[in-house]
Amino acid sequence: MKTFKGGFHVPDRKDLTAGVSIEDMPVVTDYFVSVSQHIGKPAQPVVKAGDEVVEGQLIAEANGLISANIHSPVCGEVVEIVKRKNAQGALVDCIHIKSNGKQDKFTLPPLAAFSAVKTDGDVSYESVTSEQIVERIREAGIVGMGGAGFPTAVKLQPKDPVDSLIINAAECEPYLNCDNRLLIERTAEFLAGVRLLAKAIGVTNVYIGIEANKQEAYNKLLEQSGVIADSKEALQNRKEGDIVVVLLKAKYPQGAEKTLIKACLNREVPVGGLPAAVGCIVDNVGTAYAVWDAVVNGVTLHKRLMTVSGDGIANPKNLEVAIGTPLSAVVELCGGLRENTVKLISGGPMMGFSLMDLDVSVSKTDSGFLALTDKEASSLLPTPCINCGRCAAVCPMKLMPMYIDFYTTVGDTENAVKYGALNCFECGTCAYVCPAKRPIVQSVRLTKIKAKEKK
Ligand code: SF4
Ligand code: SF4
Repeated sequence: MKTFKGGFHVPDRKDLTAGVSIEDMPVVTDYFVSVSQHIGKPAQPVVKAGDEVVEGQLIAEANGLISANIHSPVCGEVVEIVKRKNAQGALVDCIHIKSNGKQDKFTLPPLAAFSAVKTDGDVSYESVTSEQIVERIREAGIVGMGGAGFPTAVKLQPKDPVDSLIINAAECEPYLNCDNRLLIERTAEFLAGVRLLAKAIGVTNVYIGIEANKQEAYNKLLEQSGVIADSKEALQNRKEGDIVVVLLKAKYPQGAEKTLIKACLNREVPVGGLPAAVGCIVDNVGTAYAVWDAVVNGVTLHKRLMTVSGDGIANPKNLEVAIGTPLSAVVELCGGLRENTVKLISGGPMMGFSLMDLDVSVSKTDSGFLALTDKEASSLLPTPCINCGRCAAVCPMKLMPMYIDFYTTVGDTENAVKYGALNCFECGTCAYVCPAKRPIVQSVRLTKIKAKEKK
């Protein structure tokens, strides 16, 4: 089975929601839609208090090239534009919309090329151009939904020549299952989205990297026409356009771009470089599905799948949630929090953000929400480093995390940078294995902020 050097097998607790079908989150009363859910400049609101909006309508426009459109999650009235904190704790402008119970939907005009499209994902790829797909992705406000939030339309037009598309279906973060369920329940639509992405980039070399702990999804993919396994025999008979599904060892952080590229194509992205530097573009499962929905149905990105899990959640679920839904409403739908909950996390336990409370709203990049009990969450306080070297042994970037942590702690940003803090992608593996419970990821984040300030 393919994999990368380093990393660690983390107990994944995916059993809580692996077999739970996707459920629609019902409409709630109030939505708070952030204008800053992506990498780049915040979007510019195009609505004001008192305006009536319908589901899917543009409410904030991309502000420059590296930015993304934002659309209304519901039919309702704009109440105000208000500052609210996001999952990272920063105050951001949010468009507060009160739902009015109407069912109207705004969709982009159907692309002529898809007038005869069937609903099973059987898309007539030949009749749409790369430019049309990219423009539709831009209009629909699609960003990387695996957590990065980089505007997808920009990613699809790299400066370097690209020969391969890799779809990140690893979902290596413990607890999360929304990509897994999407692959199982919406297989054809997902694959149509993958083919549209490949067409947009102009490549026929397409891989889907999936961890071995998602056997049902893996089998489902291989049942589809034009999809083959990464076996010697299947590759010998590979036809042009066949998508190759690469089964990967279940190991954290297998889903990080660089480790995924190494495992699937044995290419090494240079330090500080992007996947395009080695001829690849990596996109996430949810992003591919959103591309299908936008191109085929004209649906703008205003909903996403997320896993709500952890022993602190009464009824863990995989939900399709409108962007801007308050987390408190999501948790309520899942039966509320158990009394012994000690930690709230937006995202996965390794790369997610600890929350102080439920007073934040769902964004385009939220793949999960976790409520962990005292038994699940480590409550040990950090102690001095014992120089065991475990953090360095597991680091997929071959860094020396103990030195980054040390120099950050003593306020020496220059040396923390020298030891590679800026090349760390914050996977958290080092902190997970550290017996001294050193807050290494926080140290890295602090150094990045200080280095940016110095610039
Ligand atoms: S130093 Fe960064 S990249 Fe390396 S294991 Fe720690 S968090 Fe991951
Ligand atoms: S794993 Fe923790 S204790 Fe061990 S060397 Fe790294 S920082 Fe120090």
